[in-house]
Amino acid sequence: STAPIDTDVVIVGAGPIGLFAIFQLGMLKICCHIVDSLEEVGGQCTALYPEKPIFDIPAHPRIDGAALIENLETQAAPFHPTYHLNQQVTGLTPRPDGGFDIETSTGTQIRCKAVVIAAGGGAFGPNRPPLDGLADYEGRSVFYMVKRREDFRGKRIVIAGGGDSAVDWAVSLPEVADKVYVVHRRDKFRAAPDMVDRMAAWVAAGKLELVTPCQLSGLDGADGKLTAVRVKDLDGNERVLDADILLPFFGLAAKLGPIENWGFPVDKHTIPVDRATCETPLPGVFAIGDVAQYEGKLKLILQGFADAAAAAHKIHGIVYPDEALHFEYSTTKGVPGEK
Ligand code: FAD
Repeated sequence: STAPIDTDVVIVGAGPIGLFAIFQLGMLKICCHIVDSLEEVGGQCTALYPEKPIFDIPAHPRIDGAALIENLETQAAPFHPTYHLNQQVTGLTPRPDGGFDIETSTGTQIRCKAVVIAAGGGAFGPNRPPLDGLADYEGRSVFYMVKRREDFRGKRIVIAGGGDSAVDWAVSLPEVADKVYVVHRRDKFRAAPDMVDRMAAWVAAGKLELVTPCQLSGLDGADGKLTAVRVKDLDGNERVLDADILLPFFGLAAKLGPIENWGFPVDKHTIPVDRATCETPLPGVFAIGDVAQYEGKLKLILQGFADAAAAAHKIHGIVYPDEALHFEYSTTKGVPGEK
């Protein structure tokens, strides 16, 4: 592992509120590193509703989730944040001399003066099917997202699940794949009716087979390379589907996980904070956005933005203990690289 990084603040979570915290801290000359367990920034906006319009962002009568995130990244960019994606913050340890040591699931170590937890509903990850040996196949034959459809050209694919993602890919992948199976534990699919119709058209064309009502029961293969997926019907009869790829689409789950063991109270998956500063009962650790709880808290993006501003002003006193903070408008102060 590499030497620890030194910075002012670590932000846990790169959802909309973590991203805006980079800006608010940057305006007060505070540098940030930001960590997210997902491979892309944007939290719920990116993972759950990139193409849905949001109507209650002040001064944006209508903006899609993905566009909001792009704007927030642009707004943060002049402050040169460092992003650490694809890794979960696992450890937060107060240092004897003040400050904190932060550790991530991939071994990144960061030493900082204050921590901002913008973890939303928790670290996102896929819901995994309970299959023996699954981990050996993940990333080689088992995928929870399709990044490039082309990677699956000529393959035999098992899609598992009955929601929008499963049906969307069941409509799309037969165009490139050799054979596609859809395994679902019910006969009915929870997806847009026109997409279900388009799926039926592939079935009629012989490119797609619906294996329902069935559940995944096992994986065959070696060294991460899948050769077959085993399924069981409701009576326990097993069937073997020859396959190279398994795509389980059982949704994303968010778990606060390690945050629950960092030494401050966690109540119904939220962290109680002082409303004026968003500081947790652990001095130097702040919680903002959906994860923060105080009287009157609204789990809305606009309130999270205000949380970020409140926390930044308190953190200024931690990073610059000998400097008085004079309140200044952005119109007066400006932003690096902008006139
Ligand atoms: P999140 O967006 O949840 O981001 C938190 C991030 O932290 C995640 O990316 C997660 O992976 C990461 N994380 C957590 N723990 C760790 C860890 N230990 N290590 C590393 N990373 C971690 N709000 C509105 O204001 N208006 C709307 O119209 C609106 N519509 C919505 C529609 C839907 C369908 C949904 C689901 C939500 C909607 N919301 C809306 C709510 C809004 O999306 C949330 O309030 C907002 O995303 C909260 O932002 P956040 O940054 O606090 O948390």
